[in-house]
Amino acid sequence: MRDTEVFESVERELNRQRNNIELIASENFVSEQILELAGTVLTNKYAEGYPGKRYYGGCQFVDEVEDLARNRLKELFGCEHANVQPHSGAQANTAVYLAVLKHGDKVLGMSLADGGHLTHGHPLNYSGINYEFHSYGVTKETETIDYDDFKRKVEDIKPKLVVAGASAYSRTIDFEFMARVAHDNGALFMVDMAHIAGLVAAGLHPSPFPHADIVTTTTHKTLRGPRGGVIMCKEEFAADIDRAVFPGMQGGPLMHIIAAKAACFYEALQPEFKDYATQVIKNAKAFEESLKEEGFRLVAGGTDNHLLLIDVKASCGISGKKAERLLDEIHITANKNAIPFDSEKPFKASGIRVGTPAMTTKGFNEEDFKEVGKIIAYRLKNEETDEIKEECIKRVKALTDKVTMYHDFTYIK
Ligand code: PLP
Repeated sequence: MRDTEVFESVERELNRQRNNIELIASENFVSEQILELAGTVLTNKYAEGYPGKRYYGGCQFVDEVEDLARNRLKELFGCEHANVQPHSGAQANTAVYLAVLKHGDKVLGMSLADGGHLTHGHPLNYSGINYEFHSYGVTKETETIDYDDFKRKVEDIKPKLVVAGASAYSRTIDFEFMARVAHDNGALFMVDMAHIAGLVAAGLHPSPFPHADIVTTTTHKTLRGPRGGVIMCKEEFAADIDRAVFPGMQGGPLMHIIAAKAACFYEALQPEFKDYATQVIKNAKAFEESLKEEGFRLVAGGTDNHLLLIDVKASCGISGKKAERLLDEIHITANKNAIPFDSEKPFKASGIRVGTPAMTTKGFNEEDFKEVGKIIAYRLKNEETDEIKEECIKRVKALTDKVTMYHDFTYIK
C-alpha cells in the first residue's frame, strides 16, 4: 500500500521548491541524476568498512561506487586522501576531532556569533562539550576576521588544532596565513569549507590545499550534491581519519548517498560547473548592489562569495525573525541570522542571511537578483499591508515563472 500521507507532504514540498525564491545560502537544487542515485537500491546494502576491506559480503559493486567517489573527490580538490562516508558535515567534523584530539585538548575555532559553526566549539555541541575550545572572530570596524587577534590567540593558547571555515561569513578567508600561524605554533590546521566548497572546486575561492592538514565539507551547499559530508587529508592522517569515521563514529555507510556524492563530484569536474560557480558570485555581487541601492546595511560591507548578511535591524528597524516571516509570506525563503556583536538573542537576531547558489542553479541572472533585492526592500521597508504583500507575491511569481525545475515530477500517483 502506498503511503499517500507522506507522499502528499513531499508533493507540497516539491511545489514549495518550485514556486519560492530560495535564498538559504546553505541550500541548492541537485540534478535529476543525483536525486535518482540518492533513491537507488544501494540503500539496501550494508557495507561496513572500506572498499576491499568490508565486514559484509556482496560489496563488489558498492566498492566500485565508493572508489569512484573517492577518486573523483581527490581529483576535484587535489588532495592525497578522501573519506566519503560521513553522513553529514557535523559528523565529518566530529570524526576529525576524534582522530586528532584527546578529550580536553585545546582547539581554536571561529565564534558562532561571528559566523562560525556549532561544531566549531559551541558549548552545547559535542565539540564544545568534549574539548577546550577557544574562539577568534571579526573586528567591530570591518566585520572581517581579526587576523591579528587570531595570531595572538594561537600564540597564547597554543591549541592542538586550529579550525578555519564559517557558516555566515561573506568574505574571502586567508587559509594560507592561518595555516602558517597554526603550524608555526605547533598546531594542526583544519579547514571546514562547507559553504564555499563549490567555489573552491571551481577555482573561485583560494583553496585550503595544500595549506591544511585536514579539510572537511558538506556536499549539499555550493558543491550541489546530496546531503552529506566528506573528509580530505594528507596521507599521514589517512588511517586515523578512516578509523575515526568507521568504526569510531558510524556504522554502515549510506551507499546510495555515496553514489550520489560520486555523481556530484563528476558534475563538479565538468567545465559547466565553473560557469555555474562564476554566475553564483556574479549574482551575489548584483544582489549586493541592489540591496545597497535600497539602503540596506550589509555585514562586512558586502560579499566576495555566495552569501550576504543583511542587518535588517539597522536597515529597517525589525528583527531577523520578523524579516524571515515577512519574506516567507511573499514566497521568499531566507533565514534569520545573528550578526557580529548582535544585541539580540540568536532566536530573534538582527540579521538575515541570503545566498545565490540555489536560484543560480534554477537559472536566475544578475537582473533577476537585482529585482529580488528590490522586492525585499519593498516588503521590509514598508508597513505590513495586504496590498504590498500581494504586489510582492506577484513580482516573485513573475520571476519564478521564468525558471523551471523538476518540471515533470509528481509524487502523487
Ligand atoms: N560546517 C559548516 C561550516 C556548516 O555551515 C554546516 C552546516 O550548515 C556544517 C558544518 C554542518 O553540516 P550538516 O548540517 O550536514 O551537519
